[in-house]
Amino acid sequence: MNLGFLRFCAAGALLAGLSPFFIGNTLAQETAPSPSVEVSSVTTRERVVALTFDDGPHATFTPRLLDVLKAHGVKATFFVIGMNVEQNPDVLRRIAAEGHEIGNHTWSHPNLAKLPEEAWRAQLQQTNDVIVRTIGAPPRIVRPPYGDITPEQEENIGRDFHYRVVLWSVDPDDWMEPLRPILLRRVFTHAEPGSIVLLHDIHASTVDAMPALIEGLQKRGLRFVTVSELLALESPPQPPATAAAAQPPPQRVVP
Ligand SMILES: [Zn+2]
Repeated sequence: MNLGFLRFCAAGALLAGLSPFFIGNTLAQETAPSPSVEVSSVTTRERVVALTFDDGPHATFTPRLLDVLKAHGVKATFFVIGMNVEQNPDVLRRIAAEGHEIGNHTWSHPNLAKLPEEAWRAQLQQTNDVIVRTIGAPPRIVRPPYGDITPEQEENIGRDFHYRVVLWSVDPDDWMEPLRPILLRRVFTHAEPGSIVLLHDIHASTVDAMPALIEGLQKRGLRFVTVSELLALESPPQPPATAAAAQPPPQRVVP
């Protein structure tokens, strides 16, 4: 068990409102599944970013994007909508075959936080199932539409679906189809090591901007990894997650 996992468990348990006793018990037994926890960026010593593309797969724009990613040797992450997978299974198979990561983005893009339990579970389960039927493996990550999810849903998703909940730290509002220089500037201004960039592969303007976006980030010394690769590159800023180390430092008295 690495430190990242320890921190992940503790954070998830705190988010879920569990007591410290429960955290200790869970870690000691190592039998309970990892609780899910939101992640929107990671702290890392590597100069890496994760490009993420939501709402596809699209019959035309996703293959065009895949061509660009392949030409630049870039791996990305696609948060797919179940009903779009059903319509474009070959595109999903190509995404997987070319080494990109696939995440669950619900069946029909509702706001999960506003749905009753049976409905939001069906949104995730049906999408999980169509991904498994299409590429033979389940996703390990989920992005709730609009980034909206309740703490209770997050806890249940971690326990029952074994997903991490992945948000983002850089949002250029590409879905509003801004002019390309504006889109690029938004990304270049905010992207830094450990960033997760939110984009959508259902807009021609986004796909058309990708060569310049990729090359601009490369010029800044950044390279591209999938979300799960990014999570694995997390570097805890402080050593050892002992109980003592987890306490906040004593307040320094400034003269
Ligand atoms: Zn979306």
